[in-house]
Amino acid sequence: MIERQEASDAYSLTPADFGEAFPFHIITDREMRIVQIGRSVRKVYPQIVLGQELSEVFRIVRPALRSIDWDTISKRTSTVYQLACPRGQLRLRGQVVVDEERGRIAFLTTPWITDISDLDPLGLNLRDFATHDAVSDFLFLLKTRDASIADARSMAERLREQSARLEKAHHAAEEANRAKSEFLATVSHEIRTPMNGVVGMAQLLLQTQLANEQLEYVRTIDDSANWLLSILNDILDMSKIEAGKLSTRDEPFQPAQLVRETARLFEGQCARSGVKLVVDIEDGLASLVAGDGQRLRQILSNFVGNAVKFTSDGEVRVVARTTQSTGDHRVKIEFAVEDTGIGIPPDALSKIFDAFVQADSTTTRKFGGTGLGLAICRGLVEMMGGEISASSEVGKGSRFAIEVPFAVVDQVTPQNPAKPESKKRSFDGCRVLLAEDNPVNQRVAATMLRKYGCECLVVDNGQEAVDLLQGQAFDLVLMDYHMPVLDGPGAVRAIRKHEGLIEAHTPIVALTANARDQDREACFEAGMDDFLSKPVSYTKLGEILGRWFESESDATDRANKA
Ligand code: ADP
Repeated sequence: MIERQEASDAYSLTPADFGEAFPFHIITDREMRIVQIGRSVRKVYPQIVLGQELSEVFRIVRPALRSIDWDTISKRTSTVYQLACPRGQLRLRGQVVVDEERGRIAFLTTPWITDISDLDPLGLNLRDFATHDAVSDFLFLLKTRDASIADARSMAERLREQSARLEKAHHAAEEANRAKSEFLATVSHEIRTPMNGVVGMAQLLLQTQLANEQLEYVRTIDDSANWLLSILNDILDMSKIEAGKLSTRDEPFQPAQLVRETARLFEGQCARSGVKLVVDIEDGLASLVAGDGQRLRQILSNFVGNAVKFTSDGEVRVVARTTQSTGDHRVKIEFAVEDTGIGIPPDALSKIFDAFVQADSTTTRKFGGTGLGLAICRGLVEMMGGEISASSEVGKGSRFAIEVPFAVVDQVTPQNPAKPESKKRSFDGCRVLLAEDNPVNQRVAATMLRKYGCECLVVDNGQEAVDLLQGQAFDLVLMDYHMPVLDGPGAVRAIRKHEGLIEAHTPIVALTANARDQDREACFEAGMDDFLSKPVSYTKLGEILGRWFESESDATDRANKA
């Protein structure tokens, strides 16, 4: 707050001049007796008698003074005084000028008025004020305004600096998070490649004649490798969610079938632990909806897996029901998994969807797990525009649920009609070209292909595959994504171009450790027909072979019949 400009040197007036300049002035002598008052003071307080003590007529409201005497007042020339008259409503405000020589103190005041309409009840009008008052008020305002502007400027400057600092910190944090996610994605990718060798070789070993003891060891290797893979997949998913790089698909699927199939995966485990597994699907559930069935399956598997893990008796119930259905072919479906297991204490429940959180570290030691599963579920559900929730009571059980919006698809025929269960089959004599640069992966895939009865030729890069296909025919090509010289997509583009000239089409299946959706799309865009993610398992490879050779032979059958 800026005080009014000091009066003492600003006005070099003699007491006689005060009359016109300050119609509200009051002059006292050394004894603080009133010796002169301005005409306007007289007008408001006609009862004042010269010679009266100042304190008999006025109270000094500000500053708070111990006594009203010459020494006290004359020392405080830079103070703004406020005088109130106990008998009137008017307050006066101003400063003092001291005339030592003549022993006079002049209070140069103006009335404290906030509104022009206040004048009337006091019997005052504008002529009772001096021009000086207006000028001094104006100067005061100007000074205040400049100070306020300066204040505001420096405040704005400080804010700018602060927000620049915040922005920088935010940027750095985002950058660090991105780097972390990228690092995680790279590391898990790099680990997956040699895991391909471990899983593949263990599976091949399982196909051979083994003594019981050997069989047990190999099964342990296989189980551990698969477990490690699922952890890697979790880390990859979590890093993608955090980097905002995960996209969901929008494809028709049958929700009831999805629930049943997911539950079926846990039948064996439940039977072994004596827990009842119940599937409870609402009758009117939409039979076909559009969404990301694969991710939904992942979420439900996580819920059911946890429920089974933490329940030793009673039941695990998987429920699907419609919670909202609008006329525009949109529904909300709730998928819930309820168990009668150990339950989760409230403080742990509130953090259960955070990454790396486990309700109780002792159960973790007993059951294993990374604490990423539910965090991934939350990320996935949010991407689907849905909601996730959990409720639980210690000792009674837990309920995990998601509610997700879907568009109902009219057509009831599923997109991929189920094929009859394939018998154990041989693909004797099928010629398969494998383009893969990693020697371990080459050995795994080639051995598996030969186990299936295929004839397999291996090349180290895309260019070799292109060259070979110009001279020879193959029934199928397994094409790695990342290869030296020419990568998978590049090779496929060249192959398709050549085939365009001779009107041929060799089925090409992409082979990659990058389970990312972008890679999958890049493969299809380049002209690949199918996708096999590493590590290649014996069963998955069999499915792919079945898919291509079966459909080819079906086509031939049809052609022959026609
Ligand atoms: P994890 O891979 O460790 O199982 P999750 O994110 O799936 O990771 O689960 C985190 C933790 O939540 C578990 O370790 C467990 O403590 C608790 N939890 C999850 N589901 C249940 C359940 N149905 N009953 C009891 N505790 C559960």
